[in-house]
Amino acid sequence: MSDCEVLIVGAGITGTTLALALADAGVAVTVLDREAAPSLPAPGQPLDVRVSAIHAAAVGLLERLGAWPLLPAACRAPFGRIQVWDAASVGSIRFDSAEIGQPWLGSITENRALVAALHARLAELPAARVLAPALLDDWEVRADRAIVRLGDGRELTARLLVGADGRASPLRLRAGIGASADDFGQCALVAHVATERPHADTARQRFLATGPLAFLPLADGRCSIVWSTTPPEAQRLAALPAGEFMQELGLAFEHRLGEITAIGERAVIPLRGLEASRYVGPRLALIGDAAHVVHPMAGLGANLGIGDAAALARVVIAALHGGRDPGLLQTLRPYERARRSQNLPVVQAIVGLHRLFTAGASPLRALRGAGLLAVDRAGPLKRLLTTAACGLADGAF
Ligand SMILES: Cc1cc2nc3c(=O)[nH]c(=O)nc-3n(C[C@H](O)[C@H](O)[C@H](O)COP(=O)(O)OP(=O)(O)OC[C@H]3O[C@@H](n4cnc5c(N)ncnc54)[C@H](O)[C@@H]3O)c2cc1C
Repeated sequence: MSDCEVLIVGAGITGTTLALALADAGVAVTVLDREAAPSLPAPGQPLDVRVSAIHAAAVGLLERLGAWPLLPAACRAPFGRIQVWDAASVGSIRFDSAEIGQPWLGSITENRALVAALHARLAELPAARVLAPALLDDWEVRADRAIVRLGDGRELTARLLVGADGRASPLRLRAGIGASADDFGQCALVAHVATERPHADTARQRFLATGPLAFLPLADGRCSIVWSTTPPEAQRLAALPAGEFMQELGLAFEHRLGEITAIGERAVIPLRGLEASRYVGPRLALIGDAAHVVHPMAGLGANLGIGDAAALARVVIAALHGGRDPGLLQTLRPYERARRSQNLPVVQAIVGLHRLFTAGASPLRALRGAGLLAVDRAGPLKRLLTTAACGLADGAF
């Protein structure tokens, strides 16, 4: 007899979403994390520097699961338009939710508050148990269950173990599942900035020779910037006095929102892609960054992980309803097939786009400029891309 049906290691965005989707259906689930669970932010609490563009389809799922309504309005900003342009050519493209009859494309959301809202909803469900802080120390797979040992000596058993334990996934490594790593040779400098002109609920991204620079709208009127560039350049920018940094940032962004008038804390995050060779093993499934990590230029990493959580929950719930063991490989394979066929083309497209936009050769520059303009004018293709940006093309939702 196991302690629970599913034991999830990692209570980030994807692990807590899976826990919620399972507990909402009455499946006994335990989720553990080495960090304590974050609390919902108090009114007026400053926004954390880490935010994500959560697309409309993922927001819809989180709404249905009851977590989204718990997220304070100050921590989420719906956006209806995306503008992308190239510094080295005339290429530019705009996406508008109105073109596909949607009120908005997604929401720029504080990561910490989203995880806190997921935890707050989990606390309301009797089928869910959260252990945090609790460190995974070791685990083994037996014929009928997985056994997990925690750092404090406790032992837990489950029929299915899920690795939602991030890019360095101890579960993936210990299971011997290989992964191809893609070193983008970049770091992202992130910060919140105030601008002279309003962001007008629009996410903007300019492709520079060194990498993309994004301005994402925040609920308090500021923008969250994600400036992907070479590691030495990111360190140089992070060390600049605030005034000089704001000037360089304004220039790099062509002052599309006027002057940069204030800047908060700056953080530098190394960027490295990853794709696991398998998403499942005996009594094991990987979701989120444990299975795949993409460049943030497309704002998709967390969204793909939420899609994984939705797809795996569906497979597990169907197995339990049908009296089948959720940890068997034949139960888990449909999850792997569905998500790899969804995620791999996205990962490859993002790697290709990144190479195209950081290529210095002038024929490529001309090609991408012409390509962006052509797509911008091609109605059906553009509507297809706008639908994808909303997450409405991802079968998991
Ligand atoms: C600069 C930047 C911008 C981004 N912007 C976007 C965006 O706009 N939209 C988007 O969709 N995505 C975006 N992403 C990607 C997104 O942040 C990640 O894909 C997402 O946060 C991954 O969530 P996760 O839950 O899979 O992993 P993680 O957030 O890494 O969570 C893993 C959890 O596992 C726990 N853990 C690890 N090991 C153990 C252990 N041994 N025992 C117990 N617990 C353990 C950790 O403490 C952690 O809480 C961005 C990423 C970056 C770097």
